[in-house]
Amino acid sequence: MLPLPDFEWLAPTTLADLVRALGEHPTDTLLLAGGTDLLPNLKHGLHAPKRVIGLRRVRELSLIEESADGGLTLGSGVTLDTLANDARILARYPALARAASLVASPQLRRMGTLGGNLCLDTRCAYINQTAFWRGALGGCLKRDGDVCHVVPQGKRCVAAFSADTPAPLITYDATVELVSVRGARTLPVAKLFGGDGVKNHVREADEVLTRVTLPAPARGLRSAYEKLRARQAIDFPLLSIAAALTVGDDEVVTDIRLVVGALGALPRVVRKLEAHVGKPVSPELFDELARAAHTQCHPLSSLGAEAWRQDVVAPMVKRTLAALRASTRE
Ligand SMILES: Cc1cc2nc3c(=O)[nH]c(=O)nc-3n(C[C@H](O)[C@H](O)[C@H](O)COP(=O)(O)OP(=O)(O)OC[C@H]3O[C@@H](n4cnc5c(N)ncnc54)[C@H](O)[C@@H]3O)c2cc1C
Ligand code: SF4
Repeated sequence: MLPLPDFEWLAPTTLADLVRALGEHPTDTLLLAGGTDLLPNLKHGLHAPKRVIGLRRVRELSLIEESADGGLTLGSGVTLDTLANDARILARYPALARAASLVASPQLRRMGTLGGNLCLDTRCAYINQTAFWRGALGGCLKRDGDVCHVVPQGKRCVAAFSADTPAPLITYDATVELVSVRGARTLPVAKLFGGDGVKNHVREADEVLTRVTLPAPARGLRSAYEKLRARQAIDFPLLSIAAALTVGDDEVVTDIRLVVGALGALPRVVRKLEAHVGKPVSPELFDELARAAHTQCHPLSSLGAEAWRQDVVAPMVKRTLAALRASTRE
């Protein structure tokens, strides 16, 4: 069994105490929510924090609040299991519920949280290994080295961000709140991520992600999420597609969102889809959207099989569009 490194453990019960404790030594401190990703990474020697702060006892982080117009604010400590099964989320944001339901396994979904999923570390076949395994190869840009084993000439880590919930959250225009001793700031989920696998978040070390706010679903919103993985259980995505179309009573599309995940260090928003707005929902439209995604999406090699993964972008987009489900008020 791999041991955990030594660290100081704090388990505050209020957000104010949490933020204060994090602000004391931010660069030597890590936050632990469900621990389903951080604990394996600590055991693999990927981090050596002086202090770890547990979030589970902070009640403010587990709340779900409804706005008067039908939007929802989800605490970052809400579990993936709740996201997958809450009647309000299933009815209003079915793609988010589905994405959460496809993460890992039932046990991991009961421990894993929304905040941990959004702040998940990037993954790569050369880094998510024991320190002993990595030592045989030598370090890399992400840890203990100055070379990338995936792109040996590269100057940037191309490890993939493989979390399931960010893509549907982006299609729903969700925002996140980050809180530190310096104050609070809110930003769109799409702006939370950057393109470098070493640090693919704009979150500063002294900030905690406190909540995610979803606007009320627009009338006529239809959304879906599909995931490609090696096995149909307990596997990170090799590719993931979130789609959201707003459709009028005449079946004409008034808004289109497509986000593709697990290509590289950040979810990819498919651009220039305005030309397809105003067309009726049809197999031809789905073909056009699938072609647009295929042209713009180029999987990086950190997860392997990049040529095949690009080949399946178009069929995966069509599969996702075929699964679109209307948002309803339960
Ligand atoms: C076998 C296995 C399979 C998995 N399969 C999938 C999968 O298919 N899809 C998927 O998306 N994930 C998968 N995971 C990863 C993980 O279970 C989930 O991503 C989960 O949502 C992580 O949440 P957590 O609360 O456990 O995060 P933690 O492990 O507690 O934290 C993860 C990271 O987020 C940071 N963090 C946590 N909460 C906050 C916060 N509020 N503010 C700031 N930073 C924070 C931590 O410091 C850490 O860096 C898998 C894990 C395992 C072990
Ligand atoms: S992509 Fe390269 S630098 Fe990044 S973790 Fe993998 S081997 Fe290391």
